[in-house]
Amino acid sequence: MNLKQRFEFIRSSFHNAPYSMLWAAGALVISMAAICAATLYQSRLDTTTHAIETSRNMALFAENDVARNIELYDLSLQAVVDGMNDPELMRAPPRLRAIALFDRAASATHLGSFVVLDTQGNVALDAREEFPKSANFSSRDFFIAHKTNPAAGLYIGDPYVSKRHGDAMSIPLSRRISHADGTFAGVVLIDLQLEYFKQLFSGLSLGKKGSVALIRKDGVMMMRQPFNAKVIGRSIRDASTFKRFMSGPEGSFSDKSFLDGTERLYYFRNPPELPFIIMVARAQSDIYESWWERALIIASLMAVLSASFIGLARAFVLQLNQRIRAESELALLARTDGLTGLNNRRRFDEMLDQEWIRARRNTLIFSVLFVDIDRFKIYNDTYGHQAGDDVIAKVAKCISDSIHRPGDIAARYGGEEFIVALPNTDIEGASNIAETIRAAVLQLEIENVGSEVGNVSVSIGCATWDPRHDTDVASVIHSADEALYKAKTTGRNKVVVFSKSSTQRIENSLKAIENPVSFEV
Ligand code: GH3
Ligand code: MG
Ligand code: MG
Repeated sequence: MNLKQRFEFIRSSFHNAPYSMLWAAGALVISMAAICAATLYQSRLDTTTHAIETSRNMALFAENDVARNIELYDLSLQAVVDGMNDPELMRAPPRLRAIALFDRAASATHLGSFVVLDTQGNVALDAREEFPKSANFSSRDFFIAHKTNPAAGLYIGDPYVSKRHGDAMSIPLSRRISHADGTFAGVVLIDLQLEYFKQLFSGLSLGKKGSVALIRKDGVMMMRQPFNAKVIGRSIRDASTFKRFMSGPEGSFSDKSFLDGTERLYYFRNPPELPFIIMVARAQSDIYESWWERALIIASLMAVLSASFIGLARAFVLQLNQRIRAESELALLARTDGLTGLNNRRRFDEMLDQEWIRARRNTLIFSVLFVDIDRFKIYNDTYGHQAGDDVIAKVAKCISDSIHRPGDIAARYGGEEFIVALPNTDIEGASNIAETIRAAVLQLEIENVGSEVGNVSVSIGCATWDPRHDTDVASVIHSADEALYKAKTTGRNKVVVFSKSSTQRIENSLKAIENPVSFEV
């Protein structure tokens, strides 16, 4: 194995299992993160659903209470309307008449005024006083509405500050009183104090920035919690939220508040039988506060776990790489000769067995070269052992440079002997390669006074196995060794090819010592 092959061998060891483990660890972390994200997303959806459900329950509760109260007050208004058209009742003494007209609604907790107005808008009767304070309501929206429209029914007027009852804000509920012929006879009015709604809404848990509102269907804000007197009576007709409130009997959506700019999740009810829309809106920041806390904790834990996992996987892979590198080096050392970088004899035997089996299976021709440095003992003795080692390495290089096919195997067989296996190479090809090696060594021109040619040279024995002959690999090596012996005994610095008739031709090869060429004996 030359240096390039050696490098490739080590490099290939690093591109296998360890790095795919790192990829697998990365994929695992991504999968875990994806599962976490999906769980958090689902939990966010659940939070939204829960928030809508809670808002819906609050809106339903408020709606029922408001509807029941308005129905009661309307019954009281209708009782007055009916009573005013009863001539017998109107002839009764004022105290009795008041009791019959206003019943007990006049004592209700959040009832401001309960009065009857004449056709000019003046207070004609007051549920609480026998001699009512004078006041005129002719310019008020509800009075004009009843005067001009006999079919106005229960009219919910704009919220206003009632001077008659300590500047408290009220919502006027009113009905028209008509004569028997249908002409306008006045208005009966109940002021419902906003305090009622304040108490009703304060019982709802809306979070830090939540709001709840009662909006008349023409867009006038009747009541809103958190309470702000400036907002009451204001029209939100043009707000995007209001347009959505009017889109159906109930629903939910996220939007920015028209009044304070807070991002909220709105739930509204727009019951056809009520003149109001009830809206419950909880701030996104309140709804998702605990979700964010949970998400941050889970995401942080996930990040720490992922980083640790990747770190550990990386450390593990690095360790594994070091180990593989060490093992590869060891394996390489175990099969390589340290001085020359060629295969050692053990490795050569293994490889030769494989090539031999293949050659037999495919009936391919197979050659073996035995290379031995000439007069090397004298070289060592003359130039020193270290110089001898250098020569061995240089000769090895000449050998590895002379073989090119992937199946060719060169090895240091021992001492100053080398062996080359040339699968699928006939005797002619093998002797050519042998000759190339011999010439390359001679061209090194390293002085060896003990050698026949004065320089370092090699003798090479060459044997070829023909698939037609039944033989084994050991006998091929033996034949190459025999040819080498013949090269040695016939003058060295030559290539001798083994053949049955070699003995007869040895004499011829002896002539070649002075002028070295390849011989076939
Ligand atoms: P021949 O031409 O017949 O091969 O003669 P030779 O001297 O080369 O043969 P011999 O077998 O007598 O001597 C081989 C010598 O090679 C013996 C030893 O000094 C030397 N040798 C063997 N292995 C090494 C080695 O690893 N390093 C060095 N420097 N010398 C070695
Ligand atoms: Mg030898
Ligand atoms: Mg020798």
